[in-house]
Amino acid sequence: MNNWEKNLIQIDPYVPGDQPSFPDMIKLNTNENPYPPAPGVEKALKAFDADTLRLYPAVSAEPVLLALSEFYGIETDRIFAGVGSDDVLATAFRALFNSDKPVLFPDITYSFYDVWAKLFGVPFEQIPLDADFRMHKEDYVRENGGVIICNPNAPTSIAEPLEFVEFIVKNNPDSVVVVDEAYVDFGAETALPLLDKYENLLVVQTFSKSRSLAGLRIGYAFGSRRLIRALNDVKNSYNSYTINRLSAAVGPAAIEDREYFERTCERIIRTRENSAKELKKLGFRVNDSSTNFLFATHPEVPAERIFTELKERHIFVRWFNKPRLKDYLRITVGTDEQMEKLLCALYEIINT
Ligand SMILES: *Cc1c(COP(=O)(O)O)cnc(C)c1O
Repeated sequence: MNNWEKNLIQIDPYVPGDQPSFPDMIKLNTNENPYPPAPGVEKALKAFDADTLRLYPAVSAEPVLLALSEFYGIETDRIFAGVGSDDVLATAFRALFNSDKPVLFPDITYSFYDVWAKLFGVPFEQIPLDADFRMHKEDYVRENGGVIICNPNAPTSIAEPLEFVEFIVKNNPDSVVVVDEAYVDFGAETALPLLDKYENLLVVQTFSKSRSLAGLRIGYAFGSRRLIRALNDVKNSYNSYTINRLSAAVGPAAIEDREYFERTCERIIRTRENSAKELKKLGFRVNDSSTNFLFATHPEVPAERIFTELKERHIFVRWFNKPRLKDYLRITVGTDEQMEKLLCALYEIINT
């Protein structure tokens, strides 16, 4: 090893889902939305003036904050925007978790959390979910330097009610509690109503799932002014211009069209419930889902085999080669047509 190599970072990074590209593929592996973004997005794209790209964007990401403020009824100085909620969450780890006590999160949750903790040198403690993949709220009342939960949780798809989140926030007055609500629009309860009561709560959401804009990269957080200021202080110490001009011009259209948003979410929920029923007919056990994905296991056929054989048919789902997860598949809810093809393929795989 060269001397300089000793100074390089050593970290096992987060591994995102594959982004294969076959013309005939059915891509159900990264929880993208199968429907296009709201029609206003394309209109805004067509109206976009390329000449404006000479100029840096607004540091404040104002058009995005205004659209969110209007939709959610929360003042712009209580909103933070970033390059996807991954950026927002990473910024939150850096800005809000600076204690020498451990930050608490479940052992099975979004697998970026422990990566950020290690990257930023934040001590952490992973609290085991129970055998049914449930969190217990009492587990999060102990000495800590912060709490982060994903609700509904990924990859389990299970949501906890508002009073569960409130219990954790209320009983941690000396810590910041971050709630990652990447999937909340697919039938879970948001923690937003708690914001007026608790200044130590940060609620993080994204344009990537329910707003069909994973490719644009916009995420956001709501919190007290003090928390939002801390996030901005970190952002402005790394990179001031995070929301680029194209995102700022195009993104708001995905927020403004409430009707399209609600219709798309309802469609996905309907497809999810039908697909869960069909999976159960094939012998799968399926968690109750409040997300745009299903977390399922088959008692006889190993998940890895199903994953591999689906892949051979260009149907991509997610399989995690981890101790408590390796018997499960995480299947994004696609269109009805995509799910029918998936179910046909599963029928063949299971019965051969
Ligand atoms: C998809 C996802 C995110 C972040 O997605 P972005 O595209 O970066 O907004 C964050 N948390 C969870 C649990 C997710 O599944």
